[in-house]
Amino acid sequence: MMEALKERVKSTIWKLKQPGVKRTLLLANIGGVAYTWLTSIVVTVLTLFVTLPTLYEDNPAALRFQRVLFTFIIVSMMVNYILSIFKNSYFDAKMTNANTAESASKGWAYCTPCQQYIPPRCHHCIVCEQCVLKRDSHCFFTGQCVGHRNQRYFVVFLFYAAVAAFYAVLGLESFISLHVGSFFSSNIVYYIYPIATFMWMAGSLPGFVYLSLTIFYMCITIVGGCTFLFCMHFYHALNGQTSHEATTGVTKYRHTSLKNLHDVFGSFWILNFLLPMPFAQPSDGITWSQCKELKGY
Ligand SMILES: [Zn+2]
Ligand SMILES: [Zn+2]
Repeated sequence: MMEALKERVKSTIWKLKQPGVKRTLLLANIGGVAYTWLTSIVVTVLTLFVTLPTLYEDNPAALRFQRVLFTFIIVSMMVNYILSIFKNSYFDAKMTNANTAESASKGWAYCTPCQQYIPPRCHHCIVCEQCVLKRDSHCFFTGQCVGHRNQRYFVVFLFYAAVAAFYAVLGLESFISLHVGSFFSSNIVYYIYPIATFMWMAGSLPGFVYLSLTIFYMCITIVGGCTFLFCMHFYHALNGQTSHEATTGVTKYRHTSLKNLHDVFGSFWILNFLLPMPFAQPSDGITWSQCKELKGY
């Protein structure tokens, strides 16, 4: 992992020196990753050391339980986040036994930027500047392409990010309501952000309440965004399609729902939501069985 990190830092510095679109995309990548880390740290510290101790001041056992629960959620989120970055799905023809003539005869596509033949479902990413096996999409928040090897971690990361943000929203609402009243009452006016900003500037709303309100809204957008992306990715995984295949109507790699899930998560797919599992996926990302070959699976 250290070697991969060093290599990544080296290529990032090199790309930052290049002018134009490359630099813009890279800055978006760096900004997305920095935003994810910063938000995760702020929400974790705020929840563990401010909102939970305030809400469970009189109940140490409940406080301990809530802290353990939130720590499990946030650790699961970050472990899957890190794995989805480092378990990349890059394809390098030199690392396989496939030779040019053989690849061309199999009908593999040719990637001009990488000057190599690429297997089915593999596509070039202009941000990563790599061919990516079973490429789904590029995620600026992980700074990485979602593909064959890391989709299993990415989907679980989205799940826990939505859960963590929802947990933080509930805690922050209770915390803010101690100072300005509940969101679900006539005091909702204090939650209207422009009004809250004005009140904070006028000195009638404490700074820490205003900051909590800002993070409260950030978490609401995270809940919405991550829930949407999780449902989309899970739906595509269930259907045996990538986002690109779903929009272009490619259905030839679809099998039964269970087999489709094994393709993404490996065997015992549901266990990945408890801990990242070492179970291998049926495909190596290069060779794909098509539906007609798997009748009776
Ligand atoms: Zn390529
Ligand atoms: Zn990419």
